[in-house]
Amino acid sequence: MDSYIRSLHHVTATVAGAQDDLDFYVGLLGQRLVKKTVNFDNPGVYHFYYGDEQGTPGTIMTTFPYAGMGIRDGIRGAGQVTVTSFSAPVGAMAYWRRRFTDFAVPYVDDATPFGEDAISFADPSGLLLRLIGSEGDARAPWTGAGVPEEKAIRGIHGVSLLVREPVTTVALVTELLDGTVIGEAAGTTRVGISGSAPGQLLDIVQAADAPHGVNGVGTVHHVAFAAADSAQQLAVQAELRWRGVHVTDVLDRNYFESIYFREPNGVLFEVATMPPGFAVDESVAQLGRALKLPDWAEPNRAEIESRLPSVTY
Ligand code: ZN
Repeated sequence: MDSYIRSLHHVTATVAGAQDDLDFYVGLLGQRLVKKTVNFDNPGVYHFYYGDEQGTPGTIMTTFPYAGMGIRDGIRGAGQVTVTSFSAPVGAMAYWRRRFTDFAVPYVDDATPFGEDAISFADPSGLLLRLIGSEGDARAPWTGAGVPEEKAIRGIHGVSLLVREPVTTVALVTELLDGTVIGEAAGTTRVGISGSAPGQLLDIVQAADAPHGVNGVGTVHHVAFAAADSAQQLAVQAELRWRGVHVTDVLDRNYFESIYFREPNGVLFEVATMPPGFAVDESVAQLGRALKLPDWAEPNRAEIESRLPSVTY
C-alpha cells in the first residue's frame, strides 16, 4: 500500500475552564495558541488549538473547555487515549522539573517502558499528560511563550491507547495507517506511523480487564492522523468501508478535512488532511489572536461571543 498517513495530526481533549487551559498550555508548557475558534458541533464552546508556530500536524493539541456547560467528568479506561505525551530535548528535563515545581504543578518521574526519561502530570482538568525527553527531535519549537529554544517542547511525542485486545488495534494501524511495530515492552506495543520520530508514535497498552473509559471532562476525545491530501484520506476511507468499518463522510473543519471511525477496541480515530492549515483565515503572525468562526457561524457572531467566557493570554 502506498503511504497514506504521515504522522499524528492532533489530539483533542474535553477539558474544564478556558482560562485555566490557556494558562497551562501557553503559560506553563509554552505552546502557541494557533487558533481560537468554537466547537463546530457546539458553537457555544471554544475550540483551542495549540502547537508550534504554524500548528504543524504532529504538534497540535486541541481542547474543548466545557466548564459550566453541565458536562460530567470523564472516566479513564479501555478504548481511550489515556496519556498524551509531549517531546522535549532530553537535556531539558531538569529545566522542566524545576519549571513544574515553580508553577506548583505536581509531577512524578515516570520513565517509559522504552527507557526514555519522562515526567507525568495532569492539566487543570485532570487530563493525564507526560513530557518525554527525546534525542534528536528535529522540529523547531515555538519560543514566543517564553521557554528558551533549547528547552522548549517540540510537539506531541505520541499517545498511549489503553485497549483490551492490542492485537486488533495493532493490525489496524499497521495495515491501514502506515504503522510499523518498533518496540514491545511491559505490555506496551510501540507503533511508529511512517517512521519512528516523535510525533509519529502510538503506545498501545494492554489492559485486558480495564473498565471501558467514558468521555467527559479530563479525557481525550479522539486522536487524529495526518493524511497528506484528500486523495490519501479518501483511500483510507474506502479501505475502511471495504472492511465494513463504519466511517463518517468527509467533514469540513476549515483548517483540515476529517473522517472519523472507531478502531477495533473503541478508540475514536480521525484522519485529517494536512492542508489547508491554520493560516487559511489569518496570517501566521496573527494566529490565535482573534476569534475565528466558520462562515456558517459568522451571522451569529455577536450571540456566540456573548456566550463565550472572555480570556486573556
Ligand atoms: Zn480532531
